[in-house]
Amino acid sequence: MAIKKIFSQLDFFGQCRKYDIPISQCPQFLFLIMGLVIISSSIITYALGTRYIRDPEIALLLVLSITAVLLILAYLISRSFERLAQANRLKSEFISIVSHQLRSPLSNMRWALEILMSGKMGKIEEKQLEYFSILKENSDRMRELVKDLLTVSRIETARLSFKKEMFSLERLIKELISSFEPFSKASNTEISFQAEKDLPMILSDREKIKLVIENLIDNAIRYTKGKGKIEIKLKKKDGNLYFEIKDNGVGIPKGDQKYVFQKFFRSKNASRYQTEGSGLGLYIVKSILEKAKGKIGFRSQEGKGSTFWFILPIK
Ligand code: ADP
Repeated sequence: MAIKKIFSQLDFFGQCRKYDIPISQCPQFLFLIMGLVIISSSIITYALGTRYIRDPEIALLLVLSITAVLLILAYLISRSFERLAQANRLKSEFISIVSHQLRSPLSNMRWALEILMSGKMGKIEEKQLEYFSILKENSDRMRELVKDLLTVSRIETARLSFKKEMFSLERLIKELISSFEPFSKASNTEISFQAEKDLPMILSDREKIKLVIENLIDNAIRYTKGKGKIEIKLKKKDGNLYFEIKDNGVGIPKGDQKYVFQKFFRSKNASRYQTEGSGLGLYIVKSILEKAKGKIGFRSQEGKGSTFWFILPIK
């Protein structure tokens, strides 16, 4: 049993596949590299030691004890890495199970609610309709969250598909601005759009890029207090398309800026003001843009506003 365990530990590639991480970050592989470094440095130390310590046995003993201590340390470090990698894998599995298992009950709930609200099952009073609308609104929010979790799970297991088709980014942005109009009006926010003349079509996944822009516009509206002004720009830059969205909203505190693209991160100032949100949007946006061979960045000042930008290759 113990021998089998040792052999299974030696199967580096198998172990690394289990954690869904690249081999260069795999604890077992790192341990092997660390071992090789320690052994070669011991040989070098021994060679130097025999030159300067007269008794070769003492030199050997010294080198062996240093090597043993280093190996134990390396083993302890790699064990703790392994535990972290395992916890990470369990978290990804949890996200995957939860999102898959919640999808169908939520769809069924929505379907049943729509039938009830349509009045096909009998006349419903105005007050009842009001409560049904609350139920529908909340089930829609849950569906959005589950959809985001499902996308995250696909990203983490490298199963996020990516199609390539020609489309006009300019037209897509115009369509999205119109679809956001009721929301932006209700939030007292004005959206303007400026596009350079004769922009080329791009070759990318239209649905995924739509998701990216939707998330950025949605954030710009939601994280703006009072009268908001959102400026969107699209232009050509070094053979790519450059998109920019600027808001005069709450901004992101300096100390929080390095975490914005992390899963589930929400800065305190934003969550105090806007309770709705999962902290998954920007993680999804960044992952999609990486898949599209694009880039994303932002500048922000707390209390003044934020500017998010991305570049996408034309082909
Ligand atoms: P969510 O909006 O669901 O919280 P996101 O991943 O889209 O998740 O954003 C992560 C966090 O980044 C937000 O909670 C907020 O703190 C900050 N953020 C994103 N966009 C903006 C913005 N335009 N203005 C201010 N803060 C923002």
